[in-house]
Amino acid sequence: MNSSRQSKKIVIAVDGFSSCGKSTFAKMVAAHLGYIFIDTGAMYRAVTLWAIENGCVENGILDEDKLVANLDRIRIDFRFNPDRGASDIYVGGEWVEGKIRTITVSNLVSAVSAIGEVRARLVAMQQEMGRDKGVVMDGRDIGTVVFPNAELKIFMTADPEVRAERRYQELLAKGEEVSREEIVENIRQRDHLDQTRAISPLRKAEDAIVLDNGGMTLAEEMAWFDEVFKLKVEN
Ligand code: C5P
Repeated sequence: MNSSRQSKKIVIAVDGFSSCGKSTFAKMVAAHLGYIFIDTGAMYRAVTLWAIENGCVENGILDEDKLVANLDRIRIDFRFNPDRGASDIYVGGEWVEGKIRTITVSNLVSAVSAIGEVRARLVAMQQEMGRDKGVVMDGRDIGTVVFPNAELKIFMTADPEVRAERRYQELLAKGEEVSREEIVENIRQRDHLDQTRAISPLRKAEDAIVLDNGGMTLAEEMAWFDEVFKLKVEN
C-alpha cells in the first residue's frame, strides 16, 4: 500500500444487484486499503430476522405496522471477527451471521427494506459509521442516498443466471436445502422489488463506474479496482 492511499481516506460506495459478489469484492478492497468494510445488506437482513423471530411475520406475510412500532427495540451492532477479517452482525447482542442469509430471510428482506422508517433508521446508522471515511460500504443506495458525495462509486452487475448459480453454490456449501429454481426466483423478485420500490430504489448513481464481473475471477476484479483507484483517486 503506498503513502497516498494511507493519507487520503475516502468513502467507497459499492452498489448493485443481488448476489453479484458485492460483499466479497468490497471486503477485499477494504483489506487492500486498510479500510473498514460495512455490509449494509446484513443490516436489512438483521431487521428481517428480528421481524420473523418477534411475531411480525405470519404465514409468510409481513406486518409492517407491527415492525415499525417495534423498531426502537431492535439493537444492531457490528463486532470485528479476526477469523473472517470483517465485522459480524449482532442483533440484541446475539451473533446472527449464521441466520441472516437463509432463503427464508432472503424471501422477506426486500419487503422489509422498502419500509421508509426502516430505511431512515439504517441509513442514519450507516452515515454515522462512515463519518470518518476510510470505509467501503456495499448495498443498493450507498452512492445515491447514504453517501451521495462518496469519492468513488462502483456499480456491480452480472448476468442473473451467473448470480443465481453463485448463490446456489454458496447455500449448498452451507448445507441449506434449496432448489436452483427457488434461488433464481428469489433473485428475480429481489431485483424487481429493489428497483421498483418508492423509496431509494436500486439504481446506478450517475457518477458510478460499472463493474460487470460475470466472467471475472477475484484477482481480475482486484486488478480492475487498482486501475480505477489509480485513475480516479490517486491522480
Ligand atoms: O446485499 P444483500 O443481498 O444481502 O441485501 C439484502 C437485501 O437488503 C436486498 O435485496 C435489498 O432489498 C436490501 N438492501 C437495501 N439497501 C441496501 C442494502 C440492502 O435495500 N443498502
